[in-house]
Amino acid sequence: MTTTTPGLVCAHHHLYSTLARGMPAPARQPRTFLDILEQIWWRLDVALDADTLHWSALLGAVEALASGTTGIIDHHESPSLIDGSLDIISAACTSVGVRVNCCYGVTDRHGREAGQRGLRENERFLRAGGRGMVGVHAAFTCSDELLRSASDLADELGTGVHIHVGEGPDDRDAARRLEGLATDDWLLVHCVDVDRPLRGTIAHNPRSNMNNGVGYAVPGERANDIVLGTDGIGADMLEEMRLAYVALRAHDVSQSPETVWSWLENGFSFFPECRGDVVEWNYDHVDSPWHVAFTPGIRAINVTSADGERLLVDGRPTRVDIDEVRAKAAEAARRLFAKL
Ligand SMILES: [Zn+2]
Repeated sequence: MTTTTPGLVCAHHHLYSTLARGMPAPARQPRTFLDILEQIWWRLDVALDADTLHWSALLGAVEALASGTTGIIDHHESPSLIDGSLDIISAACTSVGVRVNCCYGVTDRHGREAGQRGLRENERFLRAGGRGMVGVHAAFTCSDELLRSASDLADELGTGVHIHVGEGPDDRDAARRLEGLATDDWLLVHCVDVDRPLRGTIAHNPRSNMNNGVGYAVPGERANDIVLGTDGIGADMLEEMRLAYVALRAHDVSQSPETVWSWLENGFSFFPECRGDVVEWNYDHVDSPWHVAFTPGIRAINVTSADGERLLVDGRPTRVDIDEVRAKAAEAARRLFAKL
């Protein structure tokens, strides 16, 4: 017997980073959070082109579906390919049958003009009917002017801003700078280093925070709604839930898995339709947070969308050939790595 759940939601992802696993090591060992950004992610994002982005997003979407995740809130940056980049990600997810909420993370890292182009990509995509938010990389790579423009654009388009906030010490000033801008529609990612409350939903990414050595976000003590994301490390939300649970317990041993399960369920506020998707698992107590918290390796077997389409059958996606996607993605990764 198997239990079923709705489709799960990954509330903070970077589909552009799917090909990063196995990338060549940086010349110098990163020692700080800023080193990791400069030597890994900011080398990778600038090397992306339309082809590598397509295969990265497609593989990421397939892996999400195979993990029972049918809704992804994506945060994207590809400085050499800004215009049209959100269409590539959206199309890749749609071709697999996964819902996606897109944004382009604007920044002044590449100069004022690139920041404006990022804003225009958000605006173009959203005005054309794309599902998404206005993206900002993080306050510490943006001028006050760019932060204000992103906030104004989100207000005008009736959406929120999706932004990294206080991920590490370099962004410690973020909450002060965003205090007058953030609204309840904002998606605040990480909030590890914040010294005051901000309006918005907080996306908690425990695996990423541990991997970057930035500390614990203490989501259980925030008044905000909390959602769970992976920050680009796949989209296996039961796996992330288990890690979020032990991270929470390490901080407060009186906590229960129900707290973390509620964070997972809060993701439905961004994708109400995912509640109608049906995921069948290879384990028969997936409706119990206590079972999930202590059962590694639970896998999705079948996924049927709310409108009745079978998207995953016996662990294999139905709309795309998984073997072909893996082979083409591996080729794309080789091309990407050659550029690094
Ligand atoms: Zn992120």
